[in-house]
Amino acid sequence: IKINFSTIQRESGTINGIIAVLYDITEQERIDQERREFVANVSHELRTPLTTMRSYLEALADGAWTDKNIAPQFIDVTQNETERMIRLVNDLLQLSKLDSKDYRLTRDWIEFTSFFNKIIDRFEMTKNQDVHFTRHLLNTPVYIDMDEDKITQVIDNIISNALKYSPEGGEIIFHVEVHDDKLEVQVKDGGVGIPKENLDKIFDRFYRVDKARTRKLGGTGLGLAIAKEMIEAHGGEIWAKSEEGIGTTIYFTLPIDQEIEDDWS
Ligand code: ADP
Repeated sequence: IKINFSTIQRESGTINGIIAVLYDITEQERIDQERREFVANVSHELRTPLTTMRSYLEALADGAWTDKNIAPQFIDVTQNETERMIRLVNDLLQLSKLDSKDYRLTRDWIEFTSFFNKIIDRFEMTKNQDVHFTRHLLNTPVYIDMDEDKITQVIDNIISNALKYSPEGGEIIFHVEVHDDKLEVQVKDGGVGIPKENLDKIFDRFYRVDKARTRKLGGTGLGLAIAKEMIEAHGGEIWAKSEEGIGTTIYFTLPIDQEIEDDWS
């Protein structure tokens, strides 16, 4: 901490006050450090798919393009890597929007049960895994004042993770409860789980429990960081419980019928 003193003096010269200004340098240093790490992470994340693409394109240029068996596989790899870079850049744009001061939520009153059902239906239609979905949603309508697109993205990120880490024949359970003035949503999978020591880090930017594996599954390491920012912008909370080899549950809350007097509305 840096402290600057100045005095308040009368015309006669007598001092009748002191102003002390405290600068929290450690906070500034922490922000700088985080920014450096973020840039290093972004560069690394972009370099990995780019170097992969370079070597596959080189191999194609060196003659692999004439091989009817190999060429489609190599092109497939470069396409997948391109898709991953697009996802990464989209996620980064989302985060930078969330970081900017003039970020606004576009709120509407949304009936949560039908909203949630529609998202689960979409995953049920498009999933190409044998994973069973079980719904324990509310029987009565509940209206939430929220940004529909943002909360859709939060739920998309959570369900895609649950599917990504679920085994064939697994089950994903969706559960919604009302606690006083908030709605609690749970998405529970029977997948690989997360070791205890890593559990609170999964909401950090670029954090992955198993880098090699999640990269292979196409993750960016930003999905839950984005989800956390969006839930907090709505005045809610997000957390996880997990047991290795048993499964993971992601929880989040959203305020019900409450005047939200924060900067976001
Ligand atoms: P990613 O794009 O890599 O999935 P996320 O921010 O969505 O990034 O998740 C961060 C990390 O948390 C993942 O890489 C994974 O290691 C872990 N994780 C998230 N959800 C689950 C889950 N349902 N089961 C097991 N691990 C999970």
